Amino acid sequence: MRAVRLQAWGEPPELVEVPVPEPVGEQLLLRVEAAGLCHSDLHIMDAPEGRMPYALPFTLGHEIVGTVVASGPDVDPAWHGRLAAVHGVWSCGQCRACRRGRENDCFALTGPIGCGIGYDGGLADYVLVPSARHLVVADGADPAALAPLTDAGLTAQHVVRSLDGQLDGATVVVIGVGGLGHLALQLLAPVDLACLVAVDPRAEARTLAMRLGADAVTASVADAEEWLDGCADGHGADVVVDFVGSPETMTTAADLLAPGGRLVVVGSAGGRLDVAKGDRLPRGFSIAAPFWGTRRDLEDVVALAAAGRVRAETEVFALEDAVAAYGLLRAGRVQGRAVVVP
Ligand code: NAD
Ligand code: ZN
Repeated sequence: MRAVRLQAWGEPPELVEVPVPEPVGEQLLLRVEAAGLCHSDLHIMDAPEGRMPYALPFTLGHEIVGTVVASGPDVDPAWHGRLAAVHGVWSCGQCRACRRGRENDCFALTGPIGCGIGYDGGLADYVLVPSARHLVVADGADPAALAPLTDAGLTAQHVVRSLDGQLDGATVVVIGVGGLGHLALQLLAPVDLACLVAVDPRAEARTLAMRLGADAVTASVADAEEWLDGCADGHGADVVVDFVGSPETMTTAADLLAPGGRLVVVGSAGGRLDVAKGDRLPRGFSIAAPFWGTRRDLEDVVALAAAGRVRAETEVFALEDAVAAYGLLRAGRVQGRAVVVP
């Protein structure tokens, strides 16, 4: 089968031929129907040797929707033929975090995390999944529209759910309207917020943000600060979700916070923040850096998609064009999410 594999650190991945894996025990073999391209893949391929605890080569792609075509003897045969969304955090299911339903914080994940992140992922004709625990049934869904919900949508859902009780009447700023940000806006728009502001230097992303329910858009975080200072009550933001996490965004994002405000750093673009009480951050601040989402969050976002309440904007590519599509993602030329349909 064909697979887009990371062969060397700091190099682009390559499309190569590898054998179709054979499932044993609790494993399932899925025919990949669609796989999303995440900006995290660029961070992974750009990493110097030794930074990430993964052995090369492995197949990229951690946003997967596929059909179960084979399984080991310990899998219920009722799975065969089902369309499923893959929960990409291949948690142990046993540790305290897993027992508490926080599989995304599984204590056993000290090396590879899951599909496309240390283990072979979904940019291939087939993918091997270790257990049916990592599948959420999605019969009848459009695979290309659903694939981005397994990370971009799942992470956004996890963030919004973790803000439960803090959003009514709040002023919220979303930084970065790419794969994750455009789905977060869809989850936030129906909430009874005071104001939803979206920030992105790309004009098309700002247009998309307005269409998805933002009340205002700005081209930079500094502009958002100015905008918040000038608007009705001028007290900053109660929640800032930074889907970029760069040196440029993170400190300016923190400067947007109102007293009691919360900064949620999702993006991994190398930003740093100097945190101290009684310094530049307002009274009662909190900062979170959540990772992906729980299995329940995935079930929830799959259900929201089935109900038509969230829908990924996608640009679809063939597997042969996956490496070129990563180039477009890097150049900021993808609207919503790039999705590969093998
Ligand atoms: P993306 O490339 O699809 O979107 C990024 C968006 O940010 C683009 O629209 C870009 O124009 C915009 N942007 C760039 N610089 C900006 C700036 N200075 N101010 C405002 N907007 C800016 O990326 P994505 O796939 O949505 O991923 C976003 C980040 O989230 C990446 O760093 C990725 O690694 C990370 N991520 C984290 C998790 C997690 O669990 N914490 C999960 C998935 C992705
Ligand atoms: Zn665990």
